Amino acid sequence: MLNLMWINGEFVESASTQRFEVINPATEEVITTVPRGNGEDVERAVAAANAAYLHWRKIGSLERKEMLHEVARKIRTRGEELAQLITSEGGKPVIENRDEVEWVASCFEYYAELGRDQIGRVVAPVFEHQMSLVVKEPFGVVAAIVPWNYPILLMAWKVAPALAAGNTVVLKPSELTPLCNLFFAEIFDHLPRGVVNIVCGFGKECGEPMVTSPGTHLVAFTGSVDTGRHLAVLAAQQLKKIHLELGGNDPFIVCDDIDVDTAVRAAAWTAFLNNGQVCTSAERFYVLEPIAKKFIEGMAEFSKSLRLGNPMGPDVDLGPLVSEAQRQKVEARIAQGVQQGAKIITGGKRPAQFDCGYFFEPTVLTQVDEGMEIMRSETFGPIAPIQVVKNIEEAIARANNSEYGLGASILTNYLEKAMLAAENIKAGTFWINDPLTDNDAAPFGGMRLSGHGRELGIEGLDDFREAKHILIDYKLERKSYWFPYRWEK
Ligand code: NAD
Repeated sequence: MLNLMWINGEFVESASTQRFEVINPATEEVITTVPRGNGEDVERAVAAANAAYLHWRKIGSLERKEMLHEVARKIRTRGEELAQLITSEGGKPVIENRDEVEWVASCFEYYAELGRDQIGRVVAPVFEHQMSLVVKEPFGVVAAIVPWNYPILLMAWKVAPALAAGNTVVLKPSELTPLCNLFFAEIFDHLPRGVVNIVCGFGKECGEPMVTSPGTHLVAFTGSVDTGRHLAVLAAQQLKKIHLELGGNDPFIVCDDIDVDTAVRAAAWTAFLNNGQVCTSAERFYVLEPIAKKFIEGMAEFSKSLRLGNPMGPDVDLGPLVSEAQRQKVEARIAQGVQQGAKIITGGKRPAQFDCGYFFEPTVLTQVDEGMEIMRSETFGPIAPIQVVKNIEEAIARANNSEYGLGASILTNYLEKAMLAAENIKAGTFWINDPLTDNDAAPFGGMRLSGHGRELGIEGLDDFREAKHILIDYKLERKSYWFPYRWEK
């Protein structure tokens, strides 16, 4: 197991000489300890990344493409090891982490190819014998800071396009899931030294210096709104570009023209996948009145049938939450909702059958409204609050009444209703009848408080490069518009 930081191609301890524990959320046991990185470590990593940039930005696109494909090959070769590691420190069922591993490999392949495609365009020249090239250049060193819920996927969505665009990287994983990111030292070890550096530690001590260091040129951050806002202010002091992928409070509309059993399965998956610890989890359900009773009963019954257990096991739908702090946050949010009038239909407590692990029952609530925090803010837990609405117009209005704008979903057999919702709800991704499915080639990101910038697709590559206009005049001659000016009537 890799439990050292990786700077300039070498495995190192922190200058702090301190370490912190990594906990298995299913057993509450300490898996290992890792270095507690600080500003001094970050500066070493930033220096290595700047040195590596001089070579990496100029490397030919075929050579770079081959190195990124090699990353994907190594990920697949070591996929099972990696999937189990993500499960052991994050608690997500291993069956889901096998998918995450595959998506990561696929993302590196996608950007390996996209990176050797166009790097700009040629625009119509304003004068004779000229050419205007628009060339997209890398920024330099990217500070990539990622959370714990999809720890290697969100790393790949940053590191793959950053490298394909010619940047070098300093990466910091979440303090809850450092191991699966540190594992990538062995996946990236064929890249020139310093092209990727991995430091680990806590936000304030290790993450902030990555943002404030004059040696980083772009910040790519995924995490909570509060941290994102704080980092945006720090980055603004240096007018440094920051790419923010933040939290959500996604609405999910269930129309009355659908098969209720299918709707229940789609809704339960979107609310409870990874215990609701998905940035695009459905956090608010708006169900049309004619089918509401049947839908609520179906959600209650189906939620009770979900199998909680050791996430390494084969027949497990839900593992533990990532940490005790996260579980307490969910409990507090539900208690507050109940105090404000929400009704728990099923779940709402720690399951009795476990004597350790941060497990929590999938929870369905009704009698909720937008006045409640549980409907207004991101909970990031296994909850499905359901509000009954009269018609599609009311559903759209309520869905759109939010400070967030990450994702939104609808289930309907009528394209007109689906498109009415898609056009009127502010969200970076809108899913019609297949919630949560992403596509490497299509952009992902948020509107409003959910952030700005996009990952994936050509948009996700362009966020890691900046445009330069190169004007070429291939005939050097005196221009009529140079000094001295002449006025002729
Ligand atoms: P978080 O903001 O607490 O931490 C995210 C990362 O930022 C971690 O690596 C953490 O160490 C670091 N960090 C924390 N404080 C910092 C500071 N002061 N300076 C620099 N770095 C700092 O978020 P989290 O709890 O790890 O993740 C959950 C959040 O992430 C949720 O809000 C979720 O919606 C969001 N998320 C968003 C997306 C998206 O693509 N929009 C995807 C996944 C998760």
